[in-house]
Amino acid sequence: MSDELLSIPAAGRTHDEVLADVEAARHDDADWQGGRTFSLVYYAGPEHTAFLKKAHNALFSENGLNPLAFQSLRRFEAEVVRMTATMLNGDADVAGTMTSGGSESIMMAVKTYRTWARATGRGGGVPNIVASVTVHPAFDKACNYFDVELRKAPTVASGEVDVEALKALADENTIAAVVSAPNYPNGVIDDVTAVGAWAASREIGCHVDGCLGGFILPWVEALGHDIRPFDFRVEGVTSMSADVHKYGFAAKGASVILYKDADLRRHQFFAATGWPGGIYVSPTAAGTRPGGSIAAAWAAMQAMGRDGYLEIARKSMAAAERFRADINAVEGLAIVGEPKATVHSWESTSDDLDVYAVADALEAKGWHLNRQIRPSSVHAIVGPRHLDLVDDFRDDLTAAADEVRGDPSKSTQGQAAMYGLMAAVPEGDEAETEAFVKQILDGLYIV
Ligand SMILES: *Cc1c(COP(=O)(O)O)cnc(C)c1O
Repeated sequence: MSDELLSIPAAGRTHDEVLADVEAARHDDADWQGGRTFSLVYYAGPEHTAFLKKAHNALFSENGLNPLAFQSLRRFEAEVVRMTATMLNGDADVAGTMTSGGSESIMMAVKTYRTWARATGRGGGVPNIVASVTVHPAFDKACNYFDVELRKAPTVASGEVDVEALKALADENTIAAVVSAPNYPNGVIDDVTAVGAWAASREIGCHVDGCLGGFILPWVEALGHDIRPFDFRVEGVTSMSADVHKYGFAAKGASVILYKDADLRRHQFFAATGWPGGIYVSPTAAGTRPGGSIAAAWAAMQAMGRDGYLEIARKSMAAAERFRADINAVEGLAIVGEPKATVHSWESTSDDLDVYAVADALEAKGWHLNRQIRPSSVHAIVGPRHLDLVDDFRDDLTAAADEVRGDPSKSTQGQAAMYGLMAAVPEGDEAETEAFVKQILDGLYIV
């Protein structure tokens, strides 16, 4: 370790010099513009991106913490919430807020149900929420932060939650059920109708995690694809999260959390009335809220329009269906469960084909892929720009599978070796993995 710790430069540097450093630092970043990535960046093309930046810039300095000072942001947020509610078939009572992203929306939902349960004197013990094993880890995180127990039910073969198993997890301290539309790991939509009806009969909450699907399922459904009911049309659904910064193609830092009515939403709000700094009231977890992401979310929805989103859904579905057919056509590879929209994962069905080694071989050909465990699989979030790459993917995938079949040692090299180890850790025995990955996080902060 150097005895001189990094500090702010004594003399400020020129803008040109600093910006040149910023550009140079990006050199080894994932090339999302080429389209060979399947997550992290949702890209609708250079024109849309340039447009988003302008809208973002227009309210770059403004702060959504006090919408009374910035009527523009008050209006944009209210309209984004309302447009999202309408898209998800919410009636006039549906009420919500914007947040910085899916995780914050989910934290707010968990906190809201906990606060609601306390206010209405439900249960006496530790509150719990029931969900599928496939539920996004933002729920584990939110429950961890807010001292709520998260109980998880297994899935059935299609990949959706086992509804009877989920019901069996509930007791008098259960405050809500969570279903996903679709879930992240395999892109399958849970049986929202069954869980919603059951939640209504118990008078508990039913949250639909539409972070991923909220801005694409309505359009995929409108195109005539077989999408089961997933939104406020379903009886018993009391809240939904939908990320504008995913398939809404907004700038990052934009999600919407919706509740069946303003009474439920009020349990999300926080007010400190005795502070010497004045009366402080805040709708979400964040204090300062960047105006740029609110403005860009509004701008994205206005510029896309229903026709723009339909076109995105059409292209994304066409690409996803091609990918799935091509993956299933490779001997020894198969799509996991029954995804119906634009997200899926694929696994190996053959002992001589290590799926992680296939991923490594694809990565060597320039594709960035997410590996998953339980089952060992590779994940893809498909977007409109993938449609131009389906032939390349089929060729590279076929070649990658052949390479791995011809060389079994590939499964003990590269990332395949590490993922193979992680996948082998027995369920409930993850303490070591947890310690290991947290150590990796520590390492990331070394300058
Ligand atoms: C992305 C995602 C989240 C979390 O959203 P962030 O914006 O990453 O915080 C939650 N649920 C699902 C299904 C998601 O895909």
